[in-house]
Amino acid sequence: MMDQKYDYLIVGAGLFGAVCARELTDAGKRCVVIDRRGHIGGNCYSEEIEGIQVHRYGAHIFHTSDAEVWKYVNQFTAFNHFVNSPVANYHGKLYNLPFNMNTFYQIWGVVTPEAAKAKIREQVEKAGITNPRNLEEQAISLVGQDIYEILIKGYTEKQWGRPCRELPAYIIKRLPVRFRFDNNYFNDIYQGIPVNGYTAMIEKILNGVEVKLNLDYLEQKEEFKSISDHVIYTGPIDEYFDYQYGPLEWRGLRFETEILNQENYQGVAAMNYTDAETPYTRMIEHKHFVFDSDPKPKTVITREYPSQWKPGDEPYYPINNQKNQDLLAKYQELAGQEKNIIFGGRLGAYQYYDMDKVIRAALDTAKKLI
Ligand code: UDP
Repeated sequence: MMDQKYDYLIVGAGLFGAVCARELTDAGKRCVVIDRRGHIGGNCYSEEIEGIQVHRYGAHIFHTSDAEVWKYVNQFTAFNHFVNSPVANYHGKLYNLPFNMNTFYQIWGVVTPEAAKAKIREQVEKAGITNPRNLEEQAISLVGQDIYEILIKGYTEKQWGRPCRELPAYIIKRLPVRFRFDNNYFNDIYQGIPVNGYTAMIEKILNGVEVKLNLDYLEQKEEFKSISDHVIYTGPIDEYFDYQYGPLEWRGLRFETEILNQENYQGVAAMNYTDAETPYTRMIEHKHFVFDSDPKPKTVITREYPSQWKPGDEPYYPINNQKNQDLLAKYQELAGQEKNIIFGGRLGAYQYYDMDKVIRAALDTAKKLI
């Protein structure tokens, strides 16, 4: 491979890299994709265990309101009708998510939207919040003190390793609050799981593209640069520049996966443990992402533990505070000075990206190049 001449060397076989490779290849460019992992798919990667597709790097649920992106992915896979409706477990009692009339009924016994709104108003007034300045105040003003205590505080503090009072309000704005009986976690128009798993979908996207695994671009940067006119780099932007200004910070995750000798463990794909004592935030039961006409006799579950991150660990959630934003700006300035290289994807952009946003960004990037 080393003496071949490519138009594009794409570093990273995740969604961003794969979509760029597909578009550029279809436009007649010679592309090669390399990845330091031993598999394609990046963090979307799924593998079969006991006949069940297991999401190795955390649960991925595809959802979008971008009709073009939806049409695009449907070229490579069909999607099932999965709708994310996680259940929260607080000290053994169960509540529906996201926060909706079912949750309000379970917490307060209120049966009308008007009564739920009155309850929340009463609790917001009692807490005396007018202008929410942090996640705690934002959460209380959206759903009241009780829901904050039962469904938000413990989960969020485990997830981020810091008190809610010290976290930015925008984190919680991802979650819908609905005065309807509707347990659909997302507001998007389209939603589902690829019927044969994410790995099969990305394999299809990469169909006919040269892919080399277990190759670390940063270990042989100059050599790799010499075989291609352009590079699309989807690895961590700070690592590319040898962490010269120090590392961008991430929140880590640790997954503990277990095969159980029973058909159905929790009856739902995701159960959130919202108390402070349970050390994990979520329990995923992978088989419930699909609707199998031939139910498997065993089940695979994964506990998700948030963890302190240090350079070298797998990065999951960017810590979007001022310090890291300033650091990112410095790395982006360096990136702007590099010739013939484009930084993209979750790691290259240091962004908490949903999958549809990654595809949108990759399609836009490829369009500009073509
Ligand atoms: N969150 C919460 N309780 C839950 C689920 C989520 O308080 O049961 C909060 C928490 O602060 C989390 C944020 O909502 O960081 C965003 O959650 P989301 O489910 O969007 O995160 P993801 O699934 O992408 O990790």
